[in-house]
Amino acid sequence: MLGLMQSEPLLISSLIDFAERHHGGVEIVSRRVEGDIHRYTYKDVAARSRQVANALDAMKLAQGDRVATLAWNGYRHLELYFGVSGSGRVLHTLNPRLAPDQIAWIANHAGDQVLCFDMTFLPLVKAFHSKCKTIRHYVALCDADKLPADSGIPGLISYEAWIGAQSSSYRWPSFDENTASSMCYTSGTTGNPKAALYSHRSTLLHAYAAALPDVMCMSARDAILPVVPMFHVNAWGIPYSAAMTGAKLVFPGPAMDGKSIYELMETEKVSFAAGVPTVWQMLLAHMQAGGLRFSTLKRTVIGGSACPPAMIETFNEKYGVEVLHAWRMTEMSPLGTLCTLKNKHLDLPADEKMKIRLKQGRAIYGVDMKIVGDDGKELPWDGVAFGDLYVRGPWVVREYFKGEGGNPLVKDEHGVDWFPTGDVATIDADGYMQITDRSKDVIKSGGEWISSIDIENIAVAHPAVAMAACIGVKHPKWDERPVLVVVKKPGMEVTTAELIQFYQGKTAKWQVPDDVVFVDAIPLGATGKMLKTRLREMLKDYRLPNT
Ligand code: AMP
Repeated sequence: MLGLMQSEPLLISSLIDFAERHHGGVEIVSRRVEGDIHRYTYKDVAARSRQVANALDAMKLAQGDRVATLAWNGYRHLELYFGVSGSGRVLHTLNPRLAPDQIAWIANHAGDQVLCFDMTFLPLVKAFHSKCKTIRHYVALCDADKLPADSGIPGLISYEAWIGAQSSSYRWPSFDENTASSMCYTSGTTGNPKAALYSHRSTLLHAYAAALPDVMCMSARDAILPVVPMFHVNAWGIPYSAAMTGAKLVFPGPAMDGKSIYELMETEKVSFAAGVPTVWQMLLAHMQAGGLRFSTLKRTVIGGSACPPAMIETFNEKYGVEVLHAWRMTEMSPLGTLCTLKNKHLDLPADEKMKIRLKQGRAIYGVDMKIVGDDGKELPWDGVAFGDLYVRGPWVVREYFKGEGGNPLVKDEHGVDWFPTGDVATIDADGYMQITDRSKDVIKSGGEWISSIDIENIAVAHPAVAMAACIGVKHPKWDERPVLVVVKKPGMEVTTAELIQFYQGKTAKWQVPDDVVFVDAIPLGATGKMLKTRLREMLKDYRLPNT
């Protein structure tokens, strides 16, 4: 017997309809590429999203056609989020930090038909557009009078002229909630990138879950600043959850430096922000240098790579800002786990609480997870055993776009499909997961595994260390040994011996790095993560002392 409730499909258009009707006056504030501040409301976002939908109809784009963006976090990008997906097309957010050839490869693979880009990226678009076989329309996200006379891009039109010619009335189509809504290519440090193709249903379920109190706790009382880019995994779904809850949105545009982010947080009374550790490092450095305080920021979610304990401590203790450590993946829309305490932890001493906060957190309802050993058997949740982390759920990838890479799932003994994440983790008795490493970054020394993240976390707690990466280097006896690659803080000095000494009492002796290599910079990938593959290449001629 079926239930007798209405079965409205879960569609992205319903989010912006809801925000317009129930939170129409709530502000969306953006720092624009031009440097000025733009402000309007959800009512305006909704009207202009409908203009986008009409403009796509006028271009005769079919349902399912891909519309690409190459844009910062800003209001026009938000309109495309709703206008493109809401009208049944697929929003493809391209990552501008990739090389021109990589972007062209991805745009061709996706079969993008339209590309909307911020003027910052005009030189980038010029560098790859001739290699794009499927893009028929180029739209610059600017006013008509900001379009250069000779842009070098054939048929380039301005966004404002494009949507300005359209009506703001539009009836959003209704369709199967499993229809594709948006796509994002994985950062792909090895091999060709593969795309996760999200659906309206997966996006809406993720938006509900992301807003939960033990997840990002988003509400109509929040002013949210997503520093995490809208060009990578939909800014962690924040634009959707914000529309769902009626939260104010504050977009930083291209200005990601500590000073600009801090100013925006203060003037717009931001209560919640989301970012990767590298961006927060710049913010904290700016605040420390100027002796500044936050007057409204209450919590921040940090993820994308392991959050160093020193950062959690500084936010919590120095600034009274709660840090929510999150683990996410492109293949998971992207949230998997988030670290909030349980009732029984509240009275624990501060150092015990900190041990929990450092973990990547508990599974969000909608994500099931387990760790398995080499034999594929599930390992105990004791906080000690570590193995490959597998996940499943309605916003986890089932297959990559165009079936690329074959079937990514693994069946368990009950025939249930799991997605192997490529991360190695422990899970404790309370269900808190802690990443020990990416499976390819783990250091295998004398048959034992060393977590590169643990070794890096100790190093970055040293006052002279700005950034640290730990990689395994071949060793004739131990197979691999850890070597620490360090960027020093400007004007600070520290020697190899001092850093090695710093590990005393903080980790097992055999896990202490054998050597320290000082470098000017550690290569970062397109999503701000340390590129260990590149580091290994840089150090390919390096030899461990005494080998
Ligand atoms: P991406 O494909 O860019 O979404 O990267 C996903 C990967 O980033 C995960 O599989 C993890 O290896 C890593 N990652 C994300 N969040 C965290 C975190 N909080 N701690 C450690 N690693 C993380």
